[in-house]
Amino acid sequence: MNEYDSDKMKDLLSKEMDFVGTNIKEEADVLIVNTCSIREKAQEKVFSLLGKWRKLKKINPDIVIGVAGCVASQESDAISSRAPYVDMVIGPQTIHRLPKIYKESLKSKKTIVDVEFPLIEKFDNLPVVSESKFSEMVTIMEGCSKYCSYCVVPYTRGTEVSRPLDDILLEINSLVDNGAKEIILLGQNVNAYFYEDNKGNIVNFGLLLFYIARNKGIKRIRYTTSHPNNFDAQTYLAYEKLPQLVSHLHLPIQSGSDRILAAMKRGYTVLEYKSVIRKLKKARPSMTFSSDFIVGFPGETEEDFMKTIDLIKEVEFDQSYSFIYSKRPGTPAASLHDEVSDSEKKLRLKFLQETINTLSKSRSKSIVGENVEILVEGKSSKYNDMVTGRTTNNKIINIPGKDNLVGELLNIQVTELNNKSLKGEILIK
Ligand code: SAH
Ligand code: SF4
Repeated sequence: MNEYDSDKMKDLLSKEMDFVGTNIKEEADVLIVNTCSIREKAQEKVFSLLGKWRKLKKINPDIVIGVAGCVASQESDAISSRAPYVDMVIGPQTIHRLPKIYKESLKSKKTIVDVEFPLIEKFDNLPVVSESKFSEMVTIMEGCSKYCSYCVVPYTRGTEVSRPLDDILLEINSLVDNGAKEIILLGQNVNAYFYEDNKGNIVNFGLLLFYIARNKGIKRIRYTTSHPNNFDAQTYLAYEKLPQLVSHLHLPIQSGSDRILAAMKRGYTVLEYKSVIRKLKKARPSMTFSSDFIVGFPGETEEDFMKTIDLIKEVEFDQSYSFIYSKRPGTPAASLHDEVSDSEKKLRLKFLQETINTLSKSRSKSIVGENVEILVEGKSSKYNDMVTGRTTNNKIINIPGKDNLVGELLNIQVTELNNKSLKGEILIK
C-alpha cells in the first residue's frame, strides 16, 4: 500500500509540477519520506532519517522536507515539535493534495499539516497511468474497521471505505491498455470490499473479481491483504471459475492459539480459519498459503506458541511476514501486562521462521522436474544472464534470458534447487 502511495506521489510531482526524480539526495528540491507505523521500529527510523535530512537543509535552506503516511497521521504533533524543520506532514488519505500542500509550504514558515480522512476523494484526484508496467497495483478499498487490539491501522488510515465499481474497472482498463498483464488488488482488507450502486445493486469482493476478469487482457489477478472473516461465496466460486486468479493466497492468521486470537480480538477461532482454507482448497486443490504472525503477544505461553507451530505444519505455510509483537500507544493491547522476556520472544520468532523455511524448501524441492507457467518479472538479482519469474503458487524461478521477456507468460521446466533459489528452462513450444 505504501509503495502504491509513493508511486502516486512521484507521479503527482512529475506530472503536475514538472519535478524530475533523482537518486542523489543532495540534488533534491523536495525530499519526502513515506512512513509506516505498524511497529515501533519503523517509526523510530523516520526520526533518525529526518535528523540526516536536517543537515542537508542547513546547507540548502530551500529544500522542502515532507513526512507522509501513517507516522504523519499518528504523530503530526510530535513531528512539528521534534522536527520543526519538516515543511509538510501528509496523511495516507491526503497524498493527492501534495501539489497544493507543497505550494503552501513555500509561502509559510510553519509546518503544513494535512492528515484528514476525506474518504474517496484521494482516488478521484490521482493520476491513473504513469509509465507502462506489466504489473500494476490498484487500490480497491482502504482503511480497516476491525480494531484488532494491537493494531494502529484503523486509527491511522481510517475505517473501511470501498471505491466505486466503475472507477476500479475504468482504472484497470486503462492500465491494461497501457500494457499491464498482472493486476494486484490492494487494500487493508480487500475482501471486505462492498459497493452499492445507485440502483441498489450490491457488489462484494467475489463479484468484483468476476467483473475484473472480464477484461481478457489480464493474465493474472492477485490481491493483498484479505481477512479470514470476509470470504463470500462468490470468492470461493471465483477460485473455481477464474484461472487468472493465482493459486496462492496470503491470509494472515497471527496466532494458532484460540486464547491469543481472542485477546487479539481477531474475531475467529483456529477452526474457523481452517474452514476458510478447506473451502479454498475445495475450490482450487493446488492452492498454497502464506500468512502473517505476531510472536510474543502479551500472555503468549510456550503452549500457545507451539499451537502456532502445529498450525504452520498443518497448513504448510511456505512464506510469512512474522514479527515480534510491538506495543503501539493508543491501542487496547498496550495496557496488557507482558511477562515474556525479549530473549524468549526472539527464540520463538527464529523457530517459527525456521519452521516455515523448511516447509518452503521442501515445497520448492517437490516442484523440481515439473513443468510450470511463470510470469517474467525482471532481471535476476542473483544471476547476471537470467531473469526471474513467478509461478501461480508464488515461487520465484530464475531462467536464462534478457529483459525482453519481462511481462511474458512462459511455460518452463524447473531444473534445479540451489540453496534457496530455483532455476528453470524455457520449454520449446
Ligand atoms: N489487515 C490485515 C493485515 C494488515 S497489518 C489482517 O489483519 O489480516 C499487517 C501485519 O502487521 C498484520 O497482519 C500483523 O501481523 C502485523 N502487525 C500489526 N500490528 C502489529 C503490532 N503491534 N506488532 C507486531 N506486528 C503487528
Ligand atoms: Fe490491523 Fe489487520 Fe486487524 Fe485491521 S484487521 S486492525 S489492519 S491487523
